[in-house]
This record gives sequence, C-alpha cells and structure tokens, in this order.
Amino acid sequence: MQLSLSTPIRYVPKIGPVMADRLGKLEIFTVRDFLYHIPFRYEDFSVSKSIHAVSIGKPVHIIATVRSIRTVYTKKGKQFQECIIYDDNAEMNVIWFNQSFLTKVIKPGDVLSFAGTAGFYGASKAFISPIWEQVISGKDLLSTSGIISVYPSTEGVTSKWMRARIHAILQTPELIAEDPLPDSIKHTHNLVSLRKAIQDAHFPPTLQAAESAKNRLAFDELLHMHCRAKIRKYLWKTKKQAYSFKSDENLKHEFIASLPFTLTTDQITALAHIEKDTQSKIPMNRLILGDVGSGKTVLAAYTILQAYKNGYSSVLMAPTQILANQHFESLTKLLAPFSISISLITASHKQQNDDQKAPIVLVGTHALLEESVMVDTLGLVIIDEQQRFGVKQRSILQKKSPGGHTPHFLTTTATPIPRTIALTLYGNLDVSVLNTLPTGRLPIKTWVVPKTKRSAAYEWIQKQIEQTNQQAFIVCPFIEPSENIQSVRSAREEFNRLATSVFSHLPLALVHGNLKPTEKDTILTDFRNGKYKILVATPVVEVGIDIPNATIMMIEGSERFGLAQLHQLRGRVGRSNIQSFCLLFTEGDEQAISRLKILETNHNGPDIAYQDLRLRGEGSVFGVQQHGLSPFALASLADTSLATAAEEASEKLLSVDPELESFPLLREIVFDRTIQDVSDN
Ligand code: ADP
Ligand code: MG
Repeated sequence: MQLSLSTPIRYVPKIGPVMADRLGKLEIFTVRDFLYHIPFRYEDFSVSKSIHAVSIGKPVHIIATVRSIRTVYTKKGKQFQECIIYDDNAEMNVIWFNQSFLTKVIKPGDVLSFAGTAGFYGASKAFISPIWEQVISGKDLLSTSGIISVYPSTEGVTSKWMRARIHAILQTPELIAEDPLPDSIKHTHNLVSLRKAIQDAHFPPTLQAAESAKNRLAFDELLHMHCRAKIRKYLWKTKKQAYSFKSDENLKHEFIASLPFTLTTDQITALAHIEKDTQSKIPMNRLILGDVGSGKTVLAAYTILQAYKNGYSSVLMAPTQILANQHFESLTKLLAPFSISISLITASHKQQNDDQKAPIVLVGTHALLEESVMVDTLGLVIIDEQQRFGVKQRSILQKKSPGGHTPHFLTTTATPIPRTIALTLYGNLDVSVLNTLPTGRLPIKTWVVPKTKRSAAYEWIQKQIEQTNQQAFIVCPFIEPSENIQSVRSAREEFNRLATSVFSHLPLALVHGNLKPTEKDTILTDFRNGKYKILVATPVVEVGIDIPNATIMMIEGSERFGLAQLHQLRGRVGRSNIQSFCLLFTEGDEQAISRLKILETNHNGPDIAYQDLRLRGEGSVFGVQQHGLSPFALASLADTSLATAAEEASEKLLSVDPELESFPLLREIVFDRTIQDVSDN
C-alpha cells in the first residue's frame, strides 16, 4: 500500500490497531499527524568512545559486545539486570532495574549500541539504564548514536518505538515531495525545505539542524495563522453586506457634550474608526483592545446611538449577569439625553416582545442567544469581553435579524496582550487600541508584601478602610484548601480566618465560582452598595465589574498568578480619581518576588503581558480560563521576530493573490476551511 499523508496511522506497516489507539491519545491519527509529532527535546550522543575512554557524567555513545547478562535479586525483594559488556581493551557493567525480559532479548555475543551517561556500580564504572539497540549491519542506529529525539509520549509508546516508525515512514520520499511554501519566501526568511525540516526535526545531523527544522515548522504555523486571518478578513469584506450608517457631526458633538468627562485621545481615534467602518456597506469587524478602565463602554454607547438614529437596532452581549446589569445601567444613563430606551435580557429578565417597534436596543447575557429573541433591522452587535465567547455565539447573533444583512460587529477585550500577539490572534479583525487612561486616574500604588510584612499590611488595610470608608477585595487562588499546595490560602479558609480574627469587626462577604449566578450577583450588588467592606473572592472578580468605591486589591498567593492576570485583577480598583492600592501577598522565593515587583513600577497592560510571556511562556497569556491552549505546537508567541516575519510573508502573498490561486498547496491548507467558517458565521 502506498502511504500518503492522510493515510490512517493504523494502516502503516508495524503499527496496527493497538498502537494506533495509543497514538490516538497523542492526537496522532494520520501519517501527517505522526510526522508532525515533533520531539520536545534532543539528547546529544554524537560523541562515540571506546569503553576505556568513557568518562563519568558525560553523555556518550559506545558499541560493545555482551559477555553475560543476568537478573540479580536483592535482599529487599527488588531485582535488577546486570550485563557485562566488552570491546577491544576494556569491560564495563550495564545495569537496568526491573526489566527481567531483557535477559531473554539480550544474549551473550550480541553486539549492542548504547547511549547514556556513565556512573558507578559499586566502585566500578557502569552504565545505569542506558538506551540500547542491536547493531545490525546495513541498518542505521536510530536511538543511540548522534542527536537523538525525545518525543512527547504516552503509555505503551516509547520514543524508541516512535523513532523507528517515523524513520520507516520517511523512507517514502514522495510523501513530502512538494513544498507548499513558495521559494521566494524560503529565500527571504532563510528557511529550509519542508522535506528537510521534517527529516531533520526527527533525525537531525546536528542540534543546529534541529533548530532550523523547528524554525521552519514554527514559521509555517504562524504563516498559516496569519493567512487564515487575512483570508477571513478578505472574505468578510467581499461576501457580506451591512446597512450603512450616516454619521452626523451634530449628533456626535451633542453626545460628547453630554458626557460628564472629556474623551481621551485614544477614545476619539477609536470613535473615528468606528464611524468610518459603519458608514460602509462592508460590515464593521472591529476589536477594541483596552485595559480595564480605559473607557470602552462609552464607545459602545455612541455606536448604539448612531445605529439608532439611522433606524437600526443594536444588541450588546456580556459574559455575566452582573456585567449585563452594569452595561444596562451605564448605557441607560449615557443614552438618556437621546431618549433611547434599552431592554435588559438575562435569564431572569425575558424580552417583552410585542409592543416594541424597531429600532430597539437589547443588552443582555447568553440569554440573548435564545431562539425566541429576534431583532428586526439589526444593524449592530457588540460583544463585551469577546474572549469569553466562541465563534458559535457570534454567528448566532449575526443571524438574529431576519433581513439577511450582516450587522456591524464591535467587540471589546481587556485581556492584556502584547501588540504583536494581538496581530497574530486577531489578524482577521480591525483593532483600535485604548492605551491612554482617562485623565486624573492615578496609577494604582502596588506593593509586593512578603511573609514578614503580612501583619503590618493587615493593620494598614484596616486603618485605611476605617479612615476612608472605602472597600477592599481580597483575592485567593482556590476555593477549597488544596492539600499539595500548602502555602496557598484558600478563599474559604481565608474568609473564615479573616472574619473571625484579623478583620473581625468589619463586614465581610465571600464570593466564588461555585455559587449560583444569582447568589453571586446578590453578593456583588450588596458589596457595590456598601453592605460589606471587604469582599473575599476567587479570581471570578476578574471579569469587568465596576465598583468605584473599592480602592484596595489584596491578592493572596500572588506568585501563583501570571503578571497579566494580576494586572487585570488590579484593574478592579483604581476606577475613579481616588488613589487605589494593590497589595501582592506572597510566600514565594526571591525569584517570585522579583517577578512580582515588575508590577510595582509597570502599569501598562500589553507591556506587562509581554514580560510575562517572556518569563513564563505562553501559558501566561493563554491562561486556562482564557483561551485553553496555545494555538501552536511549535511556534512561540514570545518570538516576535518570527511572528513578524510570518505576518510580512502572508501580506506579501495575499496582497497580490488574495485567494492564493497561484499557490494551490498553500491554498489547500489555509483557504478551504476558512471559507467554510466564514460562510457559517
Ligand atoms: P472598561 O474599558 O473597563 O469597560 P468603562 O467603560 O467601564 O471601562 O469605564 C470605566 C470608568 O471610566 C467608567 O466609570 C466611565 O464612566 C469612566 N470613563 C470612561 N471614559 C472616561 C474619560 N475619558 N474620562 C474619565 N472617565 C471616563
Ligand atoms: Mg467594560
């Protein structure tokens, strides 16, 4: 049978159904998946020596003959295998533990190849648990000589086995005969061919070659991502139609004059972007990227006003009930001078259909997605905290209007994210950035509080609350005490402790993710109304609630959070012109403290996110609660120069050939699925 990249893995010689099942656990289903199962590290056994030259503690490869092998039983009932090997001048022990089958597969006289690091067995030099393979003339040594790949593995699938199977698959050269990447791009960015990249990723002649291989494959991932985003944008622009809004200078001035503050320059620029977008019959698809408190809501309000004055309805969806309530309140206030009435749709507030004539304005939660909610002449959809929703929800909203027109889309996010990453992740959107905070905002005074200063900090908090009548958040990483992470104070334990001793004469409440949404809302609303002075919480409070009187954010076990997440938490305070404070309690070591100290001096979200990325890797940006996993297997978003190169390459290809007609192989990878997605959404 002729192998192709799409051949199911079970039909590959010597794999079969049992191993195929195991490979399935590693998400390996086809030959292509297997070839793209890239080693996560390499061991360097490129130094070959004879036995007498082997030095202790250095990785080495040797070839020797077996003199004897036996299983030895210890007094404690344990067993190990002792093998004696020799070459021209010397002899040496090889020890394995609990592998009695080895005495059946290894025989005196066998010539074996070993890779490992020598240590001691009693007083003599020995290999302990080395990798080994038979030396068979005419066959390459795959596991013991040269640079050896080590794979992400699973039960019953060893790196050694994978190496052998991948090696066999790579004997079919037609598999990767053609390279989807145009030569010009390879040339410009100094990239090896795909065939060489795959070959060298698994069997690199040198570590440098492995590096180049991974670089090429990572480039592909980034390029594909950028191409898909750009194609998506192109299709959106060419295949969709929106109602166009006429903009009205008088209306705009009236709106701006009605605000209790002056807009920041970034807000003004973003408004101009939005006006330009919505004047077009091409539906807007814009993301407002702005730190917490940067003032995104007012942009939403103006866009709704514009839609309304043009006779079109708007829908704003927020991820939680409390946020929906909050938007409902602020929009009602902001739009009151224009006599626009707004309806709130949440699980507990259903739509009162009948008597409402278009245009209407609906603000709500997921409840907006229900089939019963239909909106005539829907001209605008706003999704707040868009990272909390998926494409499916977006596509449902898009179809809320019976007309067949696509609404203009405005989405917002406060996830601190470096600009290059925003371009990579949101390449299909037009982005407006709110970088300047409203004038008068004071940077939140931030202190890292080590163990020794804990009680002084508590006293300070208490005094501050008593003197100013302001409120505090105390955030803890987990709800229940966790046995293995002793130092982390769980929110519940902490709540009990604080309520009974430290802050026993202040009113405290506890809020966490396991409460029912209505319970959560009640507590947060009560807190907002001043019923409690201190709110102890798990990181659920991270989502954009606005409690201006809360000025103290204290975070327990802060070394367990990413800097970007801490920055977002800190943004829960400092939402007015009163000085706010953030106390980062930690029991972490010096290194943790110095990482946290970045927050004492830095107040710029994207910048902090970038530092976080460099210090802690992707997980910090793609935190579990935000994105699941990184979209990449190999590429690192921290490598901004590769991401930029890939972005440039995608631009170069697509600007002249937006549907990639002259690059059919690349088109197959990045185009076909995208067109499906766009027509669905
Ligand atoms: P976010 O970007 O986090 O959604 P909001 O839109 O909720 O921020 O705004 C936070 C607070 O700042 C609100 O109370 C809002 O009224 C206020 N605000 C917004 N823009 C300005 C501004 N230009 N100057 C002063 N305050 C502003
Ligand atoms: Mg907001």
